[in-house]
Amino acid sequence: MLYQCEIPERAGYDVVVVGAGPAGIGAAVSAARLGRKTLLVEKYGYAGGVGTWACCTLFFNFGVGGRQLVSGLAEEVIRRMDARGAASLMINDACQMPEFRPIAGRPLLGKVTTKTEDLRVVYHDVLSESGVDKLFYSHFYGVVRDGRRITGVVLDCLEGPVMIPAKVVIDATGDAHVVHRAGGHTEQAPADQTMHKSIFFIAGGVTAHDPAVNYQRYEELFAADKTPAMVWRHMGLSYQLDPGMVQLAFAYANGDGCDSADMTRMDHELRKRNFEVIDFVRREMSGYENSFIAHSAQQVSVRSGRHIRGVAKISVEMLREGAMPEQPLIYITRRFGSHSGDQKKGLAPERRGSWPGFSAIPYGALIPDEFDNVLACGRCISVDDAAMDTIRMMTTCMAMGQAAGTAACIAVDNRLPTMTKVPFAKLRQSLIAQNCLCCEE
Ligand SMILES: Cc1cc2nc3c(=O)[nH]c(=O)nc-3n(C[C@H](O)[C@H](O)[C@H](O)COP(=O)(O)OP(=O)(O)OC[C@H]3O[C@@H](n4cnc5c(N)ncnc54)[C@H](O)[C@@H]3O)c2cc1C
Repeated sequence: MLYQCEIPERAGYDVVVVGAGPAGIGAAVSAARLGRKTLLVEKYGYAGGVGTWACCTLFFNFGVGGRQLVSGLAEEVIRRMDARGAASLMINDACQMPEFRPIAGRPLLGKVTTKTEDLRVVYHDVLSESGVDKLFYSHFYGVVRDGRRITGVVLDCLEGPVMIPAKVVIDATGDAHVVHRAGGHTEQAPADQTMHKSIFFIAGGVTAHDPAVNYQRYEELFAADKTPAMVWRHMGLSYQLDPGMVQLAFAYANGDGCDSADMTRMDHELRKRNFEVIDFVRREMSGYENSFIAHSAQQVSVRSGRHIRGVAKISVEMLREGAMPEQPLIYITRRFGSHSGDQKKGLAPERRGSWPGFSAIPYGALIPDEFDNVLACGRCISVDDAAMDTIRMMTTCMAMGQAAGTAACIAVDNRLPTMTKVPFAKLRQSLIAQNCLCCEE
């Protein structure tokens, strides 16, 4: 079937970033601060991606083993959140309990929790102050392609479809929608071989209790098969900064994150399962007797979906070997595997490993191999599904977004024919100037 319609063309941009998750925010802020006319497109009404629409309040991976790996915009955002009383370091990794006091000038070496509504406002502020043009409530639909270049993006806005010309397009959609719609090659692991899907929710009305007692009880009930079906072995939770609010995150589903019908099925299943979870904690857990579902993720949340086929790729072998890849951009840990194997049933086989020291995301993993003026950043870069866990955290995604935004500016400024021609030393130098600690020697 051929479908044709007239689409109005709007003013063009140097850099168009599609998707306002942590990666897209990083890309747009860097591009705009470096002086390029930058547009950020998002289907929801606010930025933050999984971090703000999925009740996912924790920023992981700032530091590992006493060394800070990521700084840049992610740290700037957390410092602003701290000034509003909307961020806190966690006491430790296991307990998921905030310190409930200001971070002040202390280094960011552990996990940081945040208040979602504040984060939405801070992201809006940072983007506006940086000079990014935001076009939210707009669904990316397709591209105008000329050989190896994407010359414009087609958006479904509330007022109707529009076409926006672009010199460089950055795919920060999480699932490589831009590259996929442009006819580029993408990769995706089968649903039963990848990380499961979730709809996290925040329980309200939780009263004082000893979390350790609940953890112990949960494990006993799990061992006795008395927990709801399709839940994690451990009671996944995180205490929020607002009193009486706890994120509960242990129900899961398996399916295809890039298939509308399957996402619809999982949405139904997970929302029903969340009621089983709240009934269970009200019945079994001290402090939860009068708890309720206060709010829940906007949609099924996908940890790993579709990935670009890049000029370079992050693999488990690369992490295992430990040699730094060519053109290393953002430092990452040498570990893989998560959210598989340790649940009751129906999940991907156990895949887990870790080695000391660090590896890095190579610049080439951000470059789709079939396009000259396109970059990807965030969880849709070129990476083996099994190695996803080392790159997908919000801090890391934001840092690689900054790298993509910076590379786009260098390409536009110097009229480079392809993104592969961006001089790596110049890219690195600019990232260091933007206080991306991750780019230190
Ligand atoms: C359940 C769950 C829990 C997690 N918990 C944590 C955690 O505690 N800590 C942590 O650091 N990380 C966590 N993560 C990982 C982290 O949140 C994500 O990997 C990270 O947000 C990825 O960033 P991104 O910008 O690449 O993509 P996303 O956050 O997915 O953002 C992509 C953006 O693109 C937009 N978009 C997509 N398609 C279109 C379109 N067609 N048109 C317009 N806009 C579009 C989306 O609306 C979204 O805003 C979690 C992930 C999941 C799924």
